[in-house]
Amino acid sequence: MDFLPLYFDLKNASTLVVGGGEPAARKIELLLRAGASVKLCASEPVKSIQAVINSGDVTLVSSIFNEKLLDDVVLVVAATGNTDVDDGIATKATARNLPVNVVNRAKSSSFIFPSIIDRSPIIASVSSSGSLPVLTRLLRSKLESAIPSSFGRLADVAGKYRDQVREKFPDLNQRRRFWEHHLEGLFAEKIFSGHEEESKLILESSLKSDEFKPGGEVYLVGAGPGDPDLLTFKALRLMRQADIVLYDRLVSQPILDLVRADAERVDVGKERANHTLPQQQINELLVTLAKQGKRVLRLKGGDPFIFGRGGEEIDRLSDEGIPFQVVPGITAASGCSSYAGIPLTHRDYSQSVRFVTGHLKDDSCNLPWLDYVQENQTLVFYMGLVGLSIICDQLIAHGMRADMPIALVSKGTTQDQKVVVGTLSTIPDIVKSEKVKAPTIIIIGEVVGLRNKLKWMN
Ligand code: SAH
Repeated sequence: MDFLPLYFDLKNASTLVVGGGEPAARKIELLLRAGASVKLCASEPVKSIQAVINSGDVTLVSSIFNEKLLDDVVLVVAATGNTDVDDGIATKATARNLPVNVVNRAKSSSFIFPSIIDRSPIIASVSSSGSLPVLTRLLRSKLESAIPSSFGRLADVAGKYRDQVREKFPDLNQRRRFWEHHLEGLFAEKIFSGHEEESKLILESSLKSDEFKPGGEVYLVGAGPGDPDLLTFKALRLMRQADIVLYDRLVSQPILDLVRADAERVDVGKERANHTLPQQQINELLVTLAKQGKRVLRLKGGDPFIFGRGGEEIDRLSDEGIPFQVVPGITAASGCSSYAGIPLTHRDYSQSVRFVTGHLKDDSCNLPWLDYVQENQTLVFYMGLVGLSIICDQLIAHGMRADMPIALVSKGTTQDQKVVVGTLSTIPDIVKSEKVKAPTIIIIGEVVGLRNKLKWMN
């Protein structure tokens, strides 16, 4: 190990930064965040540094380095960018046993700045000991996604109960079990979703009772159109902690693979006209499972509130007083249009976009066609593959030009994405010969023409 990671209390400590460029600015920002006072030695500080000098947080003490500047500081950063000057400062600081960092030069430094993930009071840090900062940044972004932004609040709230918990569970193992249960359970989840008072109640009632009785909850989560990289951090976190998952046919296998390995999996299907479980039963199942105290993940393709019947499912939960959270996902229109290189709006071609379902409750296709033939509008049809010919015919019959560009995106954002382009009059025949597979989204409008230039994914 080249460096020992330590956390340095710098509150009100006097520190010295030599150099006035951007690298110095970044270190100054960190020192200030840690509560240090900064003496600056620089001839022409950049704007961002001047701003902090003006606000009084940083004192400009000299334009040229001299050894006297080391007299009353506890830490030194050499950031002039001039190797000889920086090394000279480092030698003088080291001779006085002062910790010194030469920016981007670990070899000349007695300490280095790690990449940090700040969820104060929780602080995680990553370092490559100066060897490969890019790798450090990559690792950091992985950690960023794994640690919810409100993790610090979790530490703050839980910390307040430390003594009480120690008193109630003098045995270390028992105490550990208690904390593990709550820090990965509803208590933590309540804090992450902004319900701090409820979280406290959970902990307090658990401290009063002799056994832990975990409460159930439902997470209605949008899984996006297929590419797992399009999941939100929040979706991933809830997927990792659920006890059981109820998923739709639209949820791709690579996404299901990210659900906690030992979570029970229930395929509730929903192919067109072949509902594995009728909606009513899905609603009831959610209620039953949550009442058993389970954390139930209801995983849906795209966004749960866009043609996803998400509203109906939480309606039942709300009736039963069961807590739930809704996590938006990237809806098929957004995901497929991006991956197909078709901007849904464009200042020259389209000022509005309509999301329409091509599959009505009564299986008909009675739609307000006149509304759809407006100029400068993009139409996106979900569930429109079966009714494609009717859609094209009706749009033409209501005044849309027959050579209006139209694109079908099948299995969008996945490895099997396929895009078929034509016009309202040609597409039905093209689809017959190309054998387009579901799920498919239909995009109609001038913007489709932009794909020729903007397509970026094969
Ligand atoms: N809630 C989902 C939509 C469910 S309706 C969402 O927000 O995306 C199902 C329809 O979505 C399908 O018939 C199809 O039109 C569309 N769809 C979903 N995923 C898709 C994908 N990966 N590629 C193309 N279309 C998709």
